[in-house]
Amino acid sequence: MSEKLDDEMSEQTDAKDVENVIILGGGPAGYTAALYASRANLDPLVIEGFQWGGQLQNTTDVENYPGYPDGIMGPEMMNEFRAQAERFGTRFKTDDADRVELSDGGLQRVFLGDEEHVGKTIILAMGAEPRRLGLPGEMELSGRGVSTCGVCDGAFFKGEEVVVIGGGDSAMEDAMFIAKYASKLTIVHRRDEFRASKIMFDRARQTDNIELKTPFIPEEFIAGDDGKLRAVRLKHAETGETEEMEVGGAFVAIGHIPRSELVADQIETDEDGYVRTDAKSTRTSLTGVFAIGDLVDHTYRQAVTAAGTGCMGALDAEWYLRDSPPDPEAHWAKDPGEVAEATA
Ligand code: NAP
Repeated sequence: MSEKLDDEMSEQTDAKDVENVIILGGGPAGYTAALYASRANLDPLVIEGFQWGGQLQNTTDVENYPGYPDGIMGPEMMNEFRAQAERFGTRFKTDDADRVELSDGGLQRVFLGDEEHVGKTIILAMGAEPRRLGLPGEMELSGRGVSTCGVCDGAFFKGEEVVVIGGGDSAMEDAMFIAKYASKLTIVHRRDEFRASKIMFDRARQTDNIELKTPFIPEEFIAGDDGKLRAVRLKHAETGETEEMEVGGAFVAIGHIPRSELVADQIETDEDGYVRTDAKSTRTSLTGVFAIGDLVDHTYRQAVTAAGTGCMGALDAEWYLRDSPPDPEAHWAKDPGEVAEATA
């Protein structure tokens, strides 16, 4: 992050008793929700996290976001999203939330150390992170041949040999996308059975330049003299024999982890930890709590789809505040028992 950005992001938060909208998360979903909420004069507060920008902060060229015909760097795009929300009065808190207390139709509370922020609504936009293998070289070579996003980075491996690691639908989808560019693509999976749906598996298997290699467990990502990925070391799951596979790119596609840990015990989530929302809305199991972006999205996980749900979240919050806002007086109590008493 540049010094200029650091300066710009210094504490811009005014103390306020009860916010209309608190947005938790500073990725494309959160900033789009902030843009819409600020244009609706809701004066939102974004608690954007210390490492704001979400997964795009770790992405280089973004070529698939409409409106940028020449592409744009991920961090720069997030800077622009943020600036656009700021233009209409969004306030930002560049810090990580430690604790969240959600309420069903009451006041929503977010704690940053000793600091407490209270809102009539909260929009959860904490995103998801790609699951990683935790192997030597994986983080060091990230962006230098190792990637967790086929749709984002596949086109950079034109004419190269590439490996995709994983046996689920994400791996199949990544493989089919990247195979359009790569000269040869190998799907490496740790078992002989694939978790992927039959249709996705069959499509990948029938693609000319895709090969399957099982059962192999990746052990290390190895750099070449140029500091970029040169090879992946694999171990046969049964014989234990190891081999080096020379590749220009390696895509780790072993699933995502939604960042729902702050709220998972207070709100309905699915078996994988994604926050559940009512179909075609951002409403969650708690009134006044909305959820958007990759925190709810198993499937698409693109900046543009996250931004779309950000818009939906802000509109859902706006309509809730218009039609049935909580009365802060009735809910202004620290203890959930007191809240129940006050609302009774
Ligand atoms: P997933 O179904 O959980 O598959 C993860 C894969 O990674 C599994 O094959 C797993 O192996 C492997 N894996 C996990 N940890 C590993 C490790 N440490 N080392 C090696 N391999 C490891 O995840 P996903 O593919 O991201 O899919 C998630 C959900 O999204 C699914 O419901 C899927 O159907 C959906 N999805 C749908 C589409 C679509 O329909 N277009 C596209 C993408 C995702 P094991 O099988 O051995 O456990």
